[in-house]
Amino acid sequence: MLRKPILALSANTKVRDILTKAPVTRAVVARFIPGDDTVKAVKTVADVRAKGMQVSLDFLGEGVSTLADAKATVAAYVELLDQLQAATLIAGAEVSVKLSAVGQSLPGGDIIALEHARQIVTSAYSRGARVTFDMEDHTTVDSTLQTLFAIRQDFPDVGVAIQAMLHRTADDLEKLTGRGSRVRLVKGAYNEPEQVAYQGAENVDLAYVRALKILMAGDGHPMVGSHDPRLIAIAGQLARESNRTPDSYEFQMLFGIRTTEQERLAAEGNTVRIYLPYGSDWYGYFTRRLAERPANLLFFVRSMLTK
Ligand code: FAD
Repeated sequence: MLRKPILALSANTKVRDILTKAPVTRAVVARFIPGDDTVKAVKTVADVRAKGMQVSLDFLGEGVSTLADAKATVAAYVELLDQLQAATLIAGAEVSVKLSAVGQSLPGGDIIALEHARQIVTSAYSRGARVTFDMEDHTTVDSTLQTLFAIRQDFPDVGVAIQAMLHRTADDLEKLTGRGSRVRLVKGAYNEPEQVAYQGAENVDLAYVRALKILMAGDGHPMVGSHDPRLIAIAGQLARESNRTPDSYEFQMLFGIRTTEQERLAAEGNTVRIYLPYGSDWYGYFTRRLAERPANLLFFVRSMLTK
């Protein structure tokens, strides 16, 4: 019920200023975002790997407004990949990229984002890592899929996040279930209007299950991006019915959320990948986490009042 108002309020610049400048914020943010820089990110990767899980790293930032910032994002990913390789943590690692962080929203953005995404993908693949494109709000889906299909001509298993809440998803999945196609299915974290997206938790969950069935029955590599116990159980059941082996699909969860469940799934022999955001531009990511669970907001407000 509070999800939409929180997302709408978080777009207000005054709220942004208060939240980002409050001294207590960084401490609360650390639950979801382990660090600001590459050194801390690589150290956290080592911790996650020691628990038998893999990672997908996200250099935080979105909607860059200058070409220089877009280029800086590319440079940050290349530096990260270098550091992962130097620390012998590159095998099986993945980076997650928001195309709006590499220029998608600039004038001529489709071409800029394609070129920048290609640089990151080339750098990752040359070291043995993989890439998945995050999905942002519904206005970016066509452009993101266009970029994905262009890049897949050279790198066929580049992954993409698909949002179950969008009405268009069943149609999009028809083009995404081919051999080796890596698709991360998520509910969708953005404030979407009813013209394009299912409203209400139950409708979104039902759409998620329909999409899961398509992915598990297909020839691709489904990546179940959810913390929802019911959906995780259904995904396991569908995988068994499709005779999938644990290396042919995976569970993905966000850093800091349901960690006991993450470790339980890994201990049972499942492939588990932790989405690991790092960097100083954490506001958008953080407020989406607050919106997903109002209890996070209460915890945050209480921390501010008691400091
Ligand atoms: P929910 O019903 O929201 O949560 C189920 C349970 O998980 C809750 O009851 C609670 O116990 C726990 N939980 C969930 N969220 C939180 C939280 N913030 N804090 C504390 N506990 C929580 N969305 C996009 O739109 N684009 C993307 O590219 C994208 N990438 C993602 C990548 C991964 C690996 C994951 C896991 C999610 C991603 N998301 C993305 C976010 C996703 O769309 C959902 O908003 C988010 O996962 C919450 O939905 P849920 O399936 O976990 O179910």
